[in-house]
Amino acid sequence: MEYQSLLIKYAEIGVKGKNRYLFEDRLVKRAAEVLRKIPGRFTVYKSNGRIYADAAEPFDLDQAAEALQHVFGIAGICPVVQQPVVPPEELRAAAAAYFEQAHPVYNGTFKVVATRANKAYPWDSNEINRAVGEEILSRLPDSRVDVHDPQVVLRVEVREKVNLYSRTIPGPGGMPIGGTDKAMLLLSGGIDSPVAGYMVAKRGVNLEAVYFHAPPYTSERAKQKVVDLATQVAAYAGRIRLHVINFTDIQLAIYTKCPHDELTIIMRRYMMRIAQTLAEQNGALALVTGESIGQVASQTVKSMVSTNEVCTMPVFRPLIAFDKQDIITLSQKIGTFETSILPYEDCCTIFVAKHPVTKPNAGIIRRSEEKLLPEINELVEKALAEDEVIVCG
Ligand code: ATP
Ligand code: MG
Repeated sequence: MEYQSLLIKYAEIGVKGKNRYLFEDRLVKRAAEVLRKIPGRFTVYKSNGRIYADAAEPFDLDQAAEALQHVFGIAGICPVVQQPVVPPEELRAAAAAYFEQAHPVYNGTFKVVATRANKAYPWDSNEINRAVGEEILSRLPDSRVDVHDPQVVLRVEVREKVNLYSRTIPGPGGMPIGGTDKAMLLLSGGIDSPVAGYMVAKRGVNLEAVYFHAPPYTSERAKQKVVDLATQVAAYAGRIRLHVINFTDIQLAIYTKCPHDELTIIMRRYMMRIAQTLAEQNGALALVTGESIGQVASQTVKSMVSTNEVCTMPVFRPLIAFDKQDIITLSQKIGTFETSILPYEDCCTIFVAKHPVTKPNAGIIRRSEEKLLPEINELVEKALAEDEVIVCG
């Protein structure tokens, strides 16, 4: 079937009140951005509290739906057949023909919901409902009308044109990106942090990211993997500026001067400190990590208390109570999994102790860190000064 337009449905939640237009405008902007990349010459616009994407050329529905599934805020995508306004008998035939084509050999329940913007149209909406319903029943005798809980709702909208639609392709949900709120994602090459970034972006928050790189212990390919992950998350979140921080000298200092069972925790504390400074420098208001309780030694509740201690900013941990399998399922859904499982080492796997502390004592950790002073502050400043920014997406 050839469709001329897509009706974009968004969740009502969060869009009531005076900020509704902001939400809609962001959605329109993002939808236009993703549709620009595919054939169809779409125009995205608001009309009567709805958002439409009209195509000036034929387009591939699967491709358009896939593109819009990357736009947060969209609850559903309805492909629409548009035709000129015709007299009632022709409308009845056209609407039933549409239904027959969209749901061939249909044997379930349906309901027709007609609306008229043009009150001069000879039939009112009830007359359209009844006539189209009867016509569908005569063409598809195994179908049934159910006005209370139908499996399919056929909409017949008589406006400047007639819109016919009955299918809804699910969107990603969430809130559209585009406000001024920004968070700094600690993005490693693993499975979790890209998913964590996706989840925070899904609430409409812009992302910037930081990756701690430890050459030559971590390879260029490990870095490229993180760039690829940032680009994949950016397909949903919009452009992401990725800061690559050279962490080697800081790690070596920790490795040389601190007890080895505390390496991971102290390293994580330095990552958080640097991420917070970068966030402040770049207008981000919160940090995001892929931590999940109990997943590894550095993610026990006590370890997180210790890494959290060095931050004053809120740290968002959207995966905190997720099971690993649920995180994997989500990463497969958003398309980051295959990249995440590529084998290149990350810095945490190289400088890791055999038996890391799982119950770090705040006093002991602070005393160990004192051994790093004052040199560590210079190393941190140098790492920040040499920050490499890669724009992804
Ligand atoms: P992930 O799958 O996200 O790598 P993980 O299970 O490997 O997580 P950790 O290595 O303990 O867990 O890291 C916890 C969190 O710290 C990560 O989710 C990420 O947010 C951050 N992180 C870890 N290593 C790095 C790194 N090299 N650069 C940036 N952030 C990092
Ligand atoms: Mg990791």
